[in-house]
Amino acid sequence: MKPSAFDYIRADSAEETVSLLARHGEEAKILAGGQSLMAMLNIRLAQPAMLVDISRCRDLDYVRVDKGQLVIGAAATQASVENRATLAAEVPLLDLVFPYISHFQIRNRGTVCGSVAHADPSAELPLCLTALQGEVVLRSKAGRRVLKADQFFQGMLVTAVKPGEIVEEVRFPLREQGARYAFEEVSMRHGDFAIAALAAVVTDGAIELTVGGVADRPQRKRWPRLAGADLEGAINDFAWELEAQSDGHASAEYRRHLVRRLGRELIATATAKASV
Ligand SMILES: Cc1cc2nc3c(=O)[nH]c(=O)nc-3n(C[C@H](O)[C@H](O)[C@H](O)COP(=O)(O)OP(=O)(O)OC[C@H]3O[C@@H](n4cnc5c(N)ncnc54)[C@H](O)[C@@H]3O)c2cc1C
Repeated sequence: MKPSAFDYIRADSAEETVSLLARHGEEAKILAGGQSLMAMLNIRLAQPAMLVDISRCRDLDYVRVDKGQLVIGAAATQASVENRATLAAEVPLLDLVFPYISHFQIRNRGTVCGSVAHADPSAELPLCLTALQGEVVLRSKAGRRVLKADQFFQGMLVTAVKPGEIVEEVRFPLREQGARYAFEEVSMRHGDFAIAALAAVVTDGAIELTVGGVADRPQRKRWPRLAGADLEGAINDFAWELEAQSDGHASAEYRRHLVRRLGRELIATATAKASV
């Protein structure tokens, strides 16, 4: 299929983008890297009258550390973050997940904010943002608002973005002193969307597990430093709480199995890592 007809405008700045969104309302959609949107246009899952291309907005193309967070602007590609020499020291979990996001050609075009705005339940970047309790900055003509990840993600491909708003930037907290991180996923082939993806964060006082690809959005659980049968039981309860669904890729039972198995393994992996 081909997309239905639309108008296209290339914005040069964040200010011009929010002005265009204010003028065109629900008729307009942001085009960032186009790596998810073009497919949605082609199958007519999205039929906007107007596309506002933000990929050349230089004032949205930044990756910087500010107030204990890695701040990523809406035009920054996934590759520009992945290739940052200091990423492993700044946000170790992000450094672990980038190789799992499709292939480098996609990461060269796709943006971090676009992946967050798209909110695919299997996508790795929304999972990281949830695991680290990062923030999303929404900007419109009326001003800005800042939401925590669990306020932002509201369901499968559903977020708190309102007509007229752009995800201006996302903010990932920098590595927490003493925290250890691990990530793993299972997919049909390397680079495919995950059947289940998990991130573990272990500190001296707590264990956190975040699961993507199973519920309609990433889900995070925090426990004290449980071990043995107590930990097994807690992970099993979490696997059931996620209310996994069967689809063409995997059964609900297999997804629960992955949560239990990968959850246990990842917590052990993170715990065994040297504390920094
Ligand atoms: C073959 C293939 C394999 C892929 N595999 C994976 C994978 O394994 N894991 C994974 O996570 N992703 C995968 N992706 C998706 C990829 O990561 C996308 O780049 C990403 O999901 C969307 O980013 P984008 O910049 O391309 O956004 P676009 O495609 O331009 O936009 C996606 C949606 O978000 C909206 N949007 C974009 N930016 C903003 C913004 N700043 N503010 C408000 N709304 C905005 C758009 O209007 C649109 O609705 C794959 C893509 C392809 C083509």
